[in-house]
Amino acid sequence: MNENRIKVLYIAGMSRSGSTILGNILGEIDGFFNAGELIDIWDRGLASDGKCGCGMKISKCEVWRTVLDKAFGNHSQIDIQKMVNLRDSACHARYVPWLMLKTGAKSKLKARLNVYLRNLENLYQAIQSITNSRIIVDSSKNIGYAHILTMIPMIELYVVHLIRDPRATAYSWLRKKEGWWRKNPLDSSVLWNVRNIVTEIFRKKLAGNYIRLYYEDFIAKPQIAVKSILELVQENPVRLPFVTEQDVELGFNHTIFGNPNRLQRGIVKLRLDDEWKRMKKLDWFIVSILSWPLLVLYGYSGIIRSLRNIFR
Ligand SMILES: [Zn+2]
Repeated sequence: MNENRIKVLYIAGMSRSGSTILGNILGEIDGFFNAGELIDIWDRGLASDGKCGCGMKISKCEVWRTVLDKAFGNHSQIDIQKMVNLRDSACHARYVPWLMLKTGAKSKLKARLNVYLRNLENLYQAIQSITNSRIIVDSSKNIGYAHILTMIPMIELYVVHLIRDPRATAYSWLRKKEGWWRKNPLDSSVLWNVRNIVTEIFRKKLAGNYIRLYYEDFIAKPQIAVKSILELVQENPVRLPFVTEQDVELGFNHTIFGNPNRLQRGIVKLRLDDEWKRMKKLDWFIVSILSWPLLVLYGYSGIIRSLRNIFR
């Protein structure tokens, strides 16, 4: 293995599954840099000069200014719209099985994405170098983008497949959140299914560089969850940021984009968010019906989940 390869720890799965707090915790570990949702750096980061996790605009954040200077020199020279167009033309979960199965499809796409891939490689290399990190945490979640990252030889990809009850993610998507749009239960259920099914297919490509993590288990026993991730990326830090079993101490981060709670600082108590249990019966029914095969597979139907907990 090339010692200079960049280890990227990618959080895959459905949005609103706890990836922000997981990324923030991992970012507190020595040698880790939590970059946030790097898939969005071009539009929500650079074009709109979005807010970094440190609270500054991206253009004013010293970390990102230095990273972008190193990666691209004068980044105003980059054709941001072209990067967005190339990303949007390739980063869809539904393309992944076809790209994995169809002979020659991946090499054709690689040739078409040449400029985009080169810029991504420069970006991840600059992040590693400027932040002096061994692991870059990327919580983009989109599995199509994870597949694109495997086309960059310098990147060694590790995937944490974060799974949460689809009724909980659907309920969260119905709530109003600063800077975010809403999704109806039908759309969020379809996306939950597509993201998870394609991630299950994609894991074949990752050999051992994959771990499945349930949000509910992560919140119940966060230290065990974090240790299993550390084992995945072969890291053995001296300390973890936990002050008690359920309390974690968070400092500043420099996440490029993500849920508003990425700005949380200080001691944060991890507690299960189960407000979704108050969701309308019709919404609950729609999501349950549309997601039932994976609901059973993942143990979210009552009896099977109880059995899974017993035998875990
Ligand atoms: Zn910052």
